Amino acid sequence: MGIAFRLKMIGVVGVLSFFICILVVVYQLILVVAAVAGGAEEEATNNLPIAAVSKDVLQYQADFEEAIRANKLDAGYLNILLAICMQESGGHGDDVMQASESMGDAPNTISKAQASIQQGVKYFASLVKSAKVKGPQDEDRLKVAVQAYNFGGGFIGYANKHGGKYTPELAQAFSSSQAIQLGWPKYGDPLYIEHVWRYYQTTNETEDMEQEGTGSFKLPVSNPKVTSGFGPRWGTMHKGIDFGQPIGSLVSASQAGTVEFAGFGVRGHGFGGYGNCVLINHHNGYWTLYAHMSILRTSVGQKVKQGQIIGEVGSTGDSTGPHLHMEIRKEKMGSQVDPVSYLYPSS
Ligand SMILES: [Zn+2]
Repeated sequence: MGIAFRLKMIGVVGVLSFFICILVVVYQLILVVAAVAGGAEEEATNNLPIAAVSKDVLQYQADFEEAIRANKLDAGYLNILLAICMQESGGHGDDVMQASESMGDAPNTISKAQASIQQGVKYFASLVKSAKVKGPQDEDRLKVAVQAYNFGGGFIGYANKHGGKYTPELAQAFSSSQAIQLGWPKYGDPLYIEHVWRYYQTTNETEDMEQEGTGSFKLPVSNPKVTSGFGPRWGTMHKGIDFGQPIGSLVSASQAGTVEFAGFGVRGHGFGGYGNCVLINHHNGYWTLYAHMSILRTSVGQKVKQGQIIGEVGSTGDSTGPHLHMEIRKEKMGSQVDPVSYLYPSS
């Protein structure tokens, strides 16, 4: 071998090792980037709502985690599953996930909590898949899957046909149409999402809910039909607006605030004649009042969000037929204003 050739070989080796070094550096950079990305993902998981559930439910946490792994579900679904368990059984009895029905058996035929959890999580996993929930953060689709846990998988197709997003009205409509089809007096729990979400709380929710109302008033009923406006009526003063609605229509908070009265209005205590009635303080100089309800779905001291369901339309108190009487007040016990310009600001 000549010297020139040896020098050339050394040169080739040098160039090769240079490239190997570059490759190693690039590989390490990829690792670093992956670690950072992984870290970001983990942080996001920590922002998931917490499960505000009882000790009776929490005792099964390890069983849920095992079932989540067995069904290859994202670990972030743990808290919503605990919340479902809280709603289904409160952790009492054996069929804690009320899962026997999802196997086509009669209710309460599962005799071990662990078997109920395995079946319940398996069923939940199938609903998450068929509703195409992108992950525990995908709350819109998660609500469709969770409502289907109560209604059955048929609700997913129904939701997809009607906008793809869960709404309380959609759940109500599905429940009514199923009841009619089956000839049953009622079908499932159309308020299942509201019921489960009581136990599934965003960590910053309390902070959000302490906030005063935004100032914009939302209509308290869907498909509102004004049957009586604000002003003089039958020789007295009608201090609110009436929405003629069927009994059981959902009534929601017009703005965020704190419930200051929730009960049957007794004469002499400021709410006589209002029947089952709710007063909310929006902490911005306004209160709203909702009267004549059949059922109250809130209680004094509760912090409610705008649009949160507080009761159902009825005809309690001084009322001649099913309707919601709503008032907007500038003082807790009076100073009613005409709600129309607040509820229909563009008109
Ligand atoms: Zn009225």
